[in-house]
Amino acid sequence: MTGHLVLSTLHTNDAPAAVSRLIDMGVEPFLITSSLTLVVGQRLARVPCSKCSEPVEADPRTLELLGLDPGQVDEAGLRSGPGCGFCAQTGYQGRLGLFEVVKVTRKLRELIVGRATEVALKEEAVAGGMRSMRADGLAKALAGRTTLEEVLRVTPPDPDLARRASRRAGAQSPPPAQAQVPQPPPRPRPRCSSWTTTAPSPRSPPPCWSTATRWWRPATSTRACGWSSPSTPT
Ligand SMILES: [Zn+2]
Repeated sequence: MTGHLVLSTLHTNDAPAAVSRLIDMGVEPFLITSSLTLVVGQRLARVPCSKCSEPVEADPRTLELLGLDPGQVDEAGLRSGPGCGFCAQTGYQGRLGLFEVVKVTRKLRELIVGRATEVALKEEAVAGGMRSMRADGLAKALAGRTTLEEVLRVTPPDPDLARRASRRAGAQSPPPAQAQVPQPPPRPRPRCSSWTTTAPSPRSPPPCWSTATRWWRPATSTRACGWSSPSTPT
């Protein structure tokens, strides 16, 4: 507001939450929009020990908790160490930052003045190009600069990553079964009550004959049964 660059720190879960934290502290939204230009969220993750770390495969449980599909993760760069004298048997030596950066754009300013929810601010930040600390950590873990377990431990969940994971799970699950169209019960076949399986007499061919069942109606009966009547039964 006065032309001075002021750098400050704030404790929040992520970078977009800095806005609601400032409002909670009593700062008016119009003052935030006129003075806040950039927010950087940071977590520190441990770095695998340079002496004892070696390439490892990802733990399936960790991948599941992070919402990652094993088939889509290139594990070639993953590293972890069992621990040695250099790293005090921890497997880690040093730390690096995982970051997310929110640039306060015109659209974000409108949301702040309108006292939009934290979720809406975060969605707009992601739409504006923000990469979450978890996404930044995953990229660094896959490059061997930290571990997946550290990313899981120090970063808050990323709703965008979780949404993509649930979409993948939905795509892999079998499609729901087609609703069964109820079929009407089969219509009872008309059947002549006087039919018989007895072979007909050649002298008195029956007047009624069924090709499906080859049942015969006695020649003495005169009732119609609805079946076709060939002239010469076989
Ligand atoms: Zn070590």
